[in-house]
Formats: sequence, structure tokens, C-alpha cells
Amino acid sequence: MQEIKENWEKIKEYIKTEYELNSVSYNTWILPLDFYKIEENTVFILIPSDNPQAFNYINKKYKHFFKEAISVLFNDSFDIEFVLDNSKEDNEEYVDITQSINYKNANLNPKYKFETFVIGSNNKLAHSAALAVAESPGEIYNPLYIYGGAGLGKTHLMHSIGHFTLESKPDTNVIYVTSEDFTNDVIESIRSGNQSTITKMRDKYRNADVLMVDDIQFIIGKDATQEEFFNTFNTLHLAGKQIILSSDKPPKELETLDARFKSRFAMGLIVDIQAPDYETRMAILRQLAENNAKKIDDDIIKYIAENVKSNIRELEGAFNQIINISRIENTDHITLDTAEKALKNIINQNQNELITPDYILNVVCEEFGVSPEDMRSSRRNQEIVTPRHIFMYLCRQIIDMTYEDIAKYLMKKDHTTVIHGYKRVKEDLLKDPEYANRINNIKVKISPQN
Ligand code: ADP
Ligand code: MG
Repeated sequence: MQEIKENWEKIKEYIKTEYELNSVSYNTWILPLDFYKIEENTVFILIPSDNPQAFNYINKKYKHFFKEAISVLFNDSFDIEFVLDNSKEDNEEYVDITQSINYKNANLNPKYKFETFVIGSNNKLAHSAALAVAESPGEIYNPLYIYGGAGLGKTHLMHSIGHFTLESKPDTNVIYVTSEDFTNDVIESIRSGNQSTITKMRDKYRNADVLMVDDIQFIIGKDATQEEFFNTFNTLHLAGKQIILSSDKPPKELETLDARFKSRFAMGLIVDIQAPDYETRMAILRQLAENNAKKIDDDIIKYIAENVKSNIRELEGAFNQIINISRIENTDHITLDTAEKALKNIINQNQNELITPDYILNVVCEEFGVSPEDMRSSRRNQEIVTPRHIFMYLCRQIIDMTYEDIAKYLMKKDHTTVIHGYKRVKEDLLKDPEYANRINNIKVKISPQN
């Protein structure tokens, strides 16, 4: 089909307008693609890059655009295959870059990538900004500030930037850090009173090419940490290094945020992520279903999408709950009835008694990055003691568990440790508004209606 080759640019233009691609996505992904050849019923398209990451991304996101565009414009149906420009038959020297030092230091969750991030109207802008920054760190939006409620994909996007950057430029020094870890690092090095420890901590962050700090609302108001962060920010920004921040609110609503920060954050781009609409929820659920061995009917997916609306973490929770139930019931066919039963806890969250200790435990574990085994262990380091105490507190507060039952659940012989933990949290809440805010966020996550 000579026609396709001759009208190649027109096809790309059509995709741009028809799918409302913004110019960053278009210029990055579609524009560089060249027509290669047609064989049988397949159009081969050349990706002028030797980057497998780009290949995966384009293949996943844009294949059906080309398919549709060609079928509309030429009234003929073709399959689409992408080919990497350097694709040799024997691509023997494959290196697993995820094993590199830089990759390991970056601290990234392998599941949080652009390829698995579903784009919807709620996150479109944040997604393109993240992609643009990942393509050319330090050059376009600096800092990039992403804000939005819990479970809407901020962390997922940040990690995606990290993966993308490292896969395309493996020698980039990417650092992802939660505000909590950053705070601990700063406090511990200061507490050590040892100048070389402090210098080491500073070097670590100030040598980053891409620094991502997640949930910065937890840094604000902590004097020493905020100061350290401010200096790190300035050093990196001056050197043209990329900074990416996330928070639950826009800078102007972070009340105790130093005015110095507000002006600096405004130098870059501030984007938000909203709660997902119905279509986006459906798309996310379909992706989960695709990656699951069990077949899940569309009416079940619709049922979840109609009932679980607040955020994506809950959407995933609901989905997993159904899979678990079907596993327990040992059935391959999940009926709507099973799904309804499985989701009762999650959907009717104003009925307190339906929130289980397992559920609370999972939310707390996820929040603090510890495992349920850690929580039940006898380990006494602060990283585990804090979430353990918070778990005890929330079990009392949200589902009225007795101290004895909480102790039993955590496999502790003596329930006085639970009393102690509960009291400890209650006292700290009064002393530390930042901490109170954090606990409250966790509470909302567990039980949005309360
Ligand atoms: P946040 O950091 O905003 O609280 P996360 O990034 O931790 O939210 O997202 C919560 C969960 O939802 C994660 O498992 C994440 O992979 C998933 N998720 C969020 N947004 C999307 C999306 N657009 N597509 C697919 N999964 C998503
Ligand atoms: Mg997060």
C-alpha cells in the first residue's frame, strides 16, 4: 500500500488531533516514528531509538491509535508492529540495568512504571508533566510539584520518572526518598554530632541528578529538616538538577510552609491529580483484570467501578478482595453475588464493624513500608514500633477492639504493651500536629466516611 507510506505524516497528524495528544507526548513519541514497510497485512513502524523502554511504551500506548487511524483514513484494516531501529536478529548483549548500583540506590518499586500507569482525565496533566521531566530532567519543569489526595497515584508517577530516567540514561543519579526517610536521615546525622556523618548525608542528596521527595507535607514544620531540605533544594536547583516533590496539598495551602519555599516551588510546574472518574476506574480495573490469571467478567468490573470511587488504592483493594475470596472458595468463576459479598466491607464503610483488623494492618503497613510479620515480631526499632503503636491505636479507635484482642492479634502475650502503645499515640497526637495530621490521613484511608 503505497498510500500509507506517502501519507505517513498525515496519519501522525490525524492521531495527534483525533486523540488530543498534547505537544509534549506527540513530539516525544509519535513525531519521530517512521514508516518502515508493509508485509502481508502488517504495517511495520520504525522507532528511531535503541531504547527498549521507549519501545515498550510506544507499543503499549500507541499501537491501537495507528491501527485505528489507518483503518479510518484508508478504509482498510492492518496489524501494527513496531521495530526498534537497531533491532538486530541477535541481540545477545542484553544487560539487566535494574541490577546496576544507580538503580539499586534509587529505591524504586518495580511495579510503578509509566507502562502500568493508566491515563485518565484526572491525571492527564500530571502524567504528561512527569513524562516530560523524565525525558529531559532539569530542563523543563523544575521543580515538578505533584499534589493530590491519598491513593491517587503520586508515588506511582514519581517512581515511573525514576525508572524511565534510569532506563534511558543509566548513569543518572536518581534518588527517591519518602519525607519520613529524609527526616530520619537528617535527624540521625545531626544527632550523631559527627561532622563527617553530616557531610555524608548532605553529599548523598546534593549529588543527585534527580531528587524526588514524596509527601513533603511531613517535612514542613520540622525546623532542622526543613532547613536541610531548603539548602539541598537550592543547591540542586542552582546546579540545574531535577527536583520532584509530592504533597497532599498545593504549596499555598501548606500553612506552615516557609514563604521561601512558596516562591521556589512556583518556579517550576505545579500539577494535581484528582479522584478518578468512572472511565478511568474502569480502565484501571481492566488492567488489573488483564494481569490476573482468573477471568473476571465485565459486570463485576462495572460493579466495582460504580461502587468504589474515592481512590485507586481502594479500587485495587476491592479487586484483590474479590480475587482472594474466589481463591478461598476455590472457584474459577466469580459471580456477581460473590463480588457483592466480598465488597461489603469496603463499600459500606460507615458500618464500622465490617472493617477488619487485617485491613487496618495492611493500610498501616503500606503507609510505613513495613510488613505484617514485622508488626507481629518482637523487634523494637523505631521504624516498627511507631506503626505498631499506631495500629493498636486505630484498632481501638475505629473498630473498638479490646486491648486483649489486639494483643492476641499481634501475638503478644501481655496486653499491657497494647495499653502503653495506645496511650503513647494519644499523647503524641496532642503534642505534635504533624503527627496528628498523619494519623488522621491514615484513618481517612481506612474509613473515608468517618
Ligand atoms: P499516592 O502516592 O497518591 O497516595 P500511589 O501512587 O501509592 O498513591 O497509588 C496507590 C495505588 O494505586 C498504587 O498501587 C498505584 O500503583 C495505583 N495507581 C494509582 N494511580 C494509578 C494509575 N493511574 N494507573 C494504575 N494504577 C494506579
Ligand atoms: Mg504516596
